[in-house]
Amino acid sequence: MKYVSTRGQAPAVTASQAILNGIAPDGGLYVPEKWPELVLDWSVLKTQTYADLATLIFDAFFDDFSVSEIDYIIKKAYGKQWETDNVVSFHEENKLTYVELFHGPTLAFKDVALQALPHLMTTAAKKQAINDKIVILTATSGDTGTAAMSGFGDVSQTEIVVFYPEEGVSEIQRQQMQTEAADNAHVIAITGNFDDAQKAVKSLLADEALAKDLKAAGLQFSSANSINIGRLVPQIVYYIYAYAQLIKDEKIQAGDEINIVVPTGNFGNVLAAYYASQIGLPVKQFVVASNENNVLTDFFTTGKYDRKRQFKVTNAPAMDILVSSNLERLLYFASGQNSDEIQAYMRALVENGEYTIKPDTRANLTQFIAAFATQDQVADTISKIANTTNYTIDPHTAVGRYVYEQIGVTGPTLIAATASPYKFAETVLQALDMTPESGQAALDQLSKATETEIPIQIATLFNKPVRHKQLISPNQMSSTLRHAIF
Ligand SMILES: *Cc1c(COP(=O)(O)O)cnc(C)c1O
Repeated sequence: MKYVSTRGQAPAVTASQAILNGIAPDGGLYVPEKWPELVLDWSVLKTQTYADLATLIFDAFFDDFSVSEIDYIIKKAYGKQWETDNVVSFHEENKLTYVELFHGPTLAFKDVALQALPHLMTTAAKKQAINDKIVILTATSGDTGTAAMSGFGDVSQTEIVVFYPEEGVSEIQRQQMQTEAADNAHVIAITGNFDDAQKAVKSLLADEALAKDLKAAGLQFSSANSINIGRLVPQIVYYIYAYAQLIKDEKIQAGDEINIVVPTGNFGNVLAAYYASQIGLPVKQFVVASNENNVLTDFFTTGKYDRKRQFKVTNAPAMDILVSSNLERLLYFASGQNSDEIQAYMRALVENGEYTIKPDTRANLTQFIAAFATQDQVADTISKIANTTNYTIDPHTAVGRYVYEQIGVTGPTLIAATASPYKFAETVLQALDMTPESGQAALDQLSKATETEIPIQIATLFNKPVRHKQLISPNQMSSTLRHAIF
């Protein structure tokens, strides 16, 4: 199976090359040339473990990896670091099923993919006979950085460098980053916001002199961002697994269509649900839920993508984003794999800050509906769900839960529960009308208020020594990076 660029100007590559490259050389994103042919026999799938399904999906999409390589990767990714036996767990609220994706090491859904990606990458490097050490460089608003460090931490032949904004990460996230113990992890705070960090990282990744110096030192950059196909494919698995469990629990019958609600930022998670539908998952509607950075809501309601608006820092910060990169992959398929059309949209986005899709392309997006939640609506939703159903959700999941009700989807529905409420304890406590304390005390407060246990992953977080205290300005990022890795 080959992967091609959405922009059509780069050679087709194998899965392992696509994983190593991250982004295609023409600036496009790698997509499967055609969908793998899978027979999803639900009577069998409903009896299988998460790891079994992950093996099925990885084998299909990463077909230049051997069976034993995939087995090794799955074993590494979905083992004892998970609090649950089968990676995800479920919570029912009438016809709505929360798929809890946050039982991994850093308490957010990005762990599902980022526990696998380092092993996909190092295996891919071996296959391609690349001896360079892989340097993962990332800017994070919190969840990507912690999940990437947990995944790449102490994986040989890799270095990981994370820049995060001094303001705008939760206290738990900051503590997770500052106490990271892996020898190959470099964690640096920058003054400014996430956008500043992101811009600087993009220019470092495009810096040719830097790339040359890296090469000479036996190093090369790769991306742990969700533009990497190695991030996307692992996320297909939980939609298939969740559907199989609904059948097993007799909530639906094989073949019944379901809705999927996804709190969305870079459009990776909801795109994975779409990929699942393309290989046989019966989906009625995809519900794209945004926060006040509601570019996607406007896009799906009007057909016009317009990034020219104020960036807002919200209480669901992992979704604070104005350019949802993975939308390009959806549009590629909606346009009938028309790379010229995609190129034109992406050029317009850079040059004019906006583009409007063709009616024919838009007509292929009717399964997608979108809406957004304000910060107050997020807080109200957390409080309402806690009070009426005794279940506490995090602010990102609350965006999805609000939109689910507002749009009024009916029938069996999955909602991606993307983070543990403990990761955003301060926001959740405020929503529950409490005055948040800080550090360990806030965790204790939340545990008491919700009658739930503090997740084992962070039970001793505030006892760990702080190892990373460096704070720099964005214009020092290049020299700091060189100092960290050379
Ligand atoms: C990253 C993240 C999201 C957004 O996911 P995308 O794949 O970028 O759309 C939502 N919620 C949480 C908690 C996240 O960390």
